[in-house]
This record gives sequence, C-alpha cells and structure tokens, in this order.
Amino acid sequence: MKRRELLLYVGASSWALPLLARPDDPSLVAVRVWPAKDYTRVTLESDKALVARHFITEAPERLVVDIDGLDLSPRLKELVAKTQPEDPNIAAVRVGQYQPRVVRIVFDLKQAIAPQVFTLSPVAAYQHRLVLDLYPKAPAVDDPLLALVLEREREAQGQAQVPAPPPAPSSTPAPPVAGASSAPSPAPAPKPGARPKIDRLIVVALDPGHGGEDPGAIGPSGLREKDVVLAVARQLRDRLEQEPRLRVLMTRDGDFFVPLQERVRKARKVGADLFVSIHADAFLRPQARGASVFALSDGAASSAAARWMAQKENAADAVGGLNNVAVKDSTVLRTLLDMSTTAQIKDSLALGSDVLGQLGKVGKLHKPRVEQAGFAVLKAPDVPSILVETAFISNPEEEQKLRDPAYQRQLVDAIARGLLRYLGRRPALKRERNAT
Ligand SMILES: [Zn+2]
Repeated sequence: MKRRELLLYVGASSWALPLLARPDDPSLVAVRVWPAKDYTRVTLESDKALVARHFITEAPERLVVDIDGLDLSPRLKELVAKTQPEDPNIAAVRVGQYQPRVVRIVFDLKQAIAPQVFTLSPVAAYQHRLVLDLYPKAPAVDDPLLALVLEREREAQGQAQVPAPPPAPSSTPAPPVAGASSAPSPAPAPKPGARPKIDRLIVVALDPGHGGEDPGAIGPSGLREKDVVLAVARQLRDRLEQEPRLRVLMTRDGDFFVPLQERVRKARKVGADLFVSIHADAFLRPQARGASVFALSDGAASSAAARWMAQKENAADAVGGLNNVAVKDSTVLRTLLDMSTTAQIKDSLALGSDVLGQLGKVGKLHKPRVEQAGFAVLKAPDVPSILVETAFISNPEEEQKLRDPAYQRQLVDAIARGLLRYLGRRPALKRERNAT
C-alpha cells in the first residue's frame, strides 16, 4: 500500500517535471531594452546560450520570439516593465509560457519592422546575449540624417544655378565665435582678404562614443563615459549651430549602440566636412590626467599608449554587440575605409592641433601634441577626423570635473573654438577641391 502511494507520487511528480528547470537549462541573468529612433534593441543575457525562433505578423504588426529552455521567470517578466511608452518601435510586450520549457515573447509594434535576431558570446562583463534588434522598415520622416541630406541637395541645386555666390556684404573673414570674448587669446588676425569665406553649408559630424550595451569607461564613483560624452556632444551641437553656416549631425542622439562603421557611414552619407568623436576613457594608471586628441595613423601608432587606446576603442563593437552576420555583407565598405589618404591624415592633424590648442587653455593636456593610432572610427577616407579624449574618467578628480556642468561648458567652448578656428583657416574642404 505504502509502495503504491509512493509510485503514485513519483508518477505525479514526473508529470510536473517538464515545467521545472533542468540543471542544464539556461537561466536569465538580465534583460535590457534600448529604445531609439534608429532601432530598438532588446537584450536577454543568460548564463548559457539561448536558442530562439522568431517570426513577424502584419496587421497587427507583431514580432513573436520563442525561446527554448526558459520558464516564465520574474526576470523575464521585467521585460514588460522595462518597455517604455515612448519607445519609437514597441507599443507593448507580453510574455507567456507557450509550451513546457518554451517561452513566447510577443512585441506589439508601432510600425513595421525588419528584425535582426542573433546571439553573442560572452565578452567583457557580459555573459551570453540573445539580441533582438527592431529596425523600422521605413526611416522616420523627421530623421535628422535624412533632413541634412535633403538640405545638402537643395543647396547643390541652388549653387548650380548661381555658380559664383556674391560675397557677403560684411565680408567677414571667419565665422564669428560666439563667446569668443571669454577666450584667453584670440587667433592672430589674418591678412585682409587672405582668408577665404565660408559660403556654403559646413556639416560637422559629432560622434559621442559608446552607448547602449557599451557603457564605455566607468569612473570610480560610477559616472559612465557614454552618458557624459552624449551630454557634451549635445551642448557642442547647440553651440556650433549658433553659427549660421554650420549644421551638425549626431551619430547617436540617445543611449543606444552604434557600430563604429555605422558612425563613419552616417558622416559620409551627409558629406560631413569634419568628424569629431568624443570620449572620456579610463587609462591604465588612475593618476593619468588631461585631455588628448587623436588622429588616424597610416602606420605605427605614435606611442604605445595611443596604440592601447585605439585597441580599446576598436573593441567597442564587441562589447556593444555587433551583429557579425550582418557585417559580413559590408566588406566593400571596409575596404573603402582602409583607403584613408595621407591628405586626410594631414588635415586631421591640423584640425586636431587647433582643438588641442584650445583645450590646453581650459585644462591640462595629457600630451602636448596630437597622437596617432589606428582608430576604426576615424577612417572616413575624405573627412578630417579626430577623436577627443576630454579627460580620463578613471582619475577621481577628472571624473568630478566631467560631472560639473560648468566644466562641460568650458570643454564645449574649447572644442567649438578649435573647430571654428580650423574652418576659418582651411575652408578649402574636399568637395570644393573636387568642384574646381
Ligand atoms: Zn571611449
């Protein structure tokens, strides 16, 4: 009798078994959502690789993802709370136990999307990641990149009708530098007429480093590089757009991952005249301090530290979560990006020293000259490109300064002065060289 009861008990429990986690089942360690206009990313991080299938439906637009070996855990349910009403792509999320040991996630979408679903092996602080990238099928109508491209086209048409624009009545030799009165020492006045006017739109690509899954460096008290460089870049954009002839393209204007190559592609798409990547990295020694400016090198790095810094920056794609399958299609672009010319590097060095000169007036410099190394993000073949390390976030004092809005403003003013100085002295930018 007792034995039969025991058998019954065992029988019941084996019935229930499929719903219980098996020792080799993966378990979720985190779920993250990165909403952005460009795309929304959902990351499921787990201790073992996840196996998922997905499909989309139209009318209503939905993305459905089934994941094997998972139970409907509280962690998975966090996904619902982490989806924000402002998300440009996701309207709502539902999770359910679709089958024993298979969970189903249903994303109700705000618009048609082309999803990319892929897995990433453990890297840096991350374990296994299952990544769901929700790309809008149609780019947003108010996409700033598109708006800039259109403005460029209108301008090109206007110039075709009027080949030689008349000189501005004031014949101002350089764009005015707002706030220049506070500049400690203004640039030496050029000979009258020696400085050509800027009589067309200048587009500056501002590239706040890192973002999304890639926090960049983290300061001793927790300040994240991705946040502070975005804040600085936004202020710099506002500052530069006070100049009537300047337009700014932000390679990212939110907290999401942008691959290094994509940053370069965006800049080239709008025909950017300058590319400025903004960072605040950690260094090997916490005592390291001061701003530095980097340009591309066509050979060896200018120092071991510069090489180390470039290697670290170039690893951003792995941490941020690059879809390697999608990247295999872009070999052509990669080849193109390896063709950066000596002229580009020479222009970048000139731009870099103008910016470095101004940064030296507001704080310490790490190195008195522009350093060079093989930064992937500086490889636009025809665009003078620099990477500004505003400070070392790993230095506790500099981390405090980076937090300080007043110091951020000083940084922004210095970088803006450097850029305007360069533009004032060297308006013979690439497109004009080609046009003549
Ligand atoms: Zn960085």
